[in-house]
Amino acid sequence: MLQQTQVKTVIPYFVKFMERFPDINSLANAEEDEVLSYWSGLGYYSRGRNLLKSAKILQKEFSSVMPDTSEQLQLLPGIGKSTAGAILSLGFKIKAPILDGNAKRVLVRYYNINDPVDLASTVNKLWEIAETNLPEKECDVYTQAIMDVGALICKRSKPECIKCPLSNACVSKKENTHNLLPIRSPKKEKPIKKLYWLILQNEDGEILLENKKTKGVWEGLWTFIGFQEHHCRKEYIKQLSKNYSVLQEGKKIKHNFTHYKLDIDLLHLRVHGKIQNLDNKKVWFNNEDLMKVGLPSPVTKELEQIKKNDSYSFL
Ligand code: SF4
Repeated sequence: MLQQTQVKTVIPYFVKFMERFPDINSLANAEEDEVLSYWSGLGYYSRGRNLLKSAKILQKEFSSVMPDTSEQLQLLPGIGKSTAGAILSLGFKIKAPILDGNAKRVLVRYYNINDPVDLASTVNKLWEIAETNLPEKECDVYTQAIMDVGALICKRSKPECIKCPLSNACVSKKENTHNLLPIRSPKKEKPIKKLYWLILQNEDGEILLENKKTKGVWEGLWTFIGFQEHHCRKEYIKQLSKNYSVLQEGKKIKHNFTHYKLDIDLLHLRVHGKIQNLDNKKVWFNNEDLMKVGLPSPVTKELEQIKKNDSYSFL
């Protein structure tokens, strides 16, 4: 949960998750929908899906026991070398390096490394340093310390060198380059993808959602019905019903992913009477059912908006 997410955001999610799934077996036996409902709003849903997949692998192939080698840990989806290192050193007290974003920044500044940190050659160099720096004893304390220095003192902007236990020997501090590091290669503009959402609400206030079974950012989550092209949405409505009223149209939502930006155009209709030709991947949800499944954050936000504007009919 903490990958790419701050501790204070994670805490309530973590507490609820651990209450419901206190061990490997309780997670491995759960349905994906339920697991993702505990992830709703936290983003980066692949982490939740990977956690479930990992629990299933651990149950089946490791007798529900967490392995204690980097190679075996890296067989689990979502666990790379750095996460494996953190599990080994913090969980098992085994000597193993980490190189998460915080540790990387501390090392880059401490050694005054001027190469872009996104280059494989720089990352390899940093792994070597991380490995060499490991103490023989109390590797867990060292790992926690370097993460904490990165998160709390050697912060991305305005590092607080005055408080830093490494300041005496820190090269970038001495050279006064610490505020310029780490360096990254120039960013490419993210491509923009269009998405046309259709929010269908029936006379009981229920909302029609579809499950993204296909691989991708919202895999396994429930979303409004989406179309790549404007005319496809138009055609779809024609097939379903002639008896509807427009509740909202033309609203635009922007959503940022790591590799692209999404421009969403929204059309919200209330359909009256029976709907034709609905395939079985789409399901009507009332308010209570919506709590039990995983929803991407733009869908959650829009549903909250609908609830506010439409209290008379939304259950
Ligand atoms: S002295 Fe400053 S730049 Fe160097 S590691 Fe500490 S906080 Fe970072």
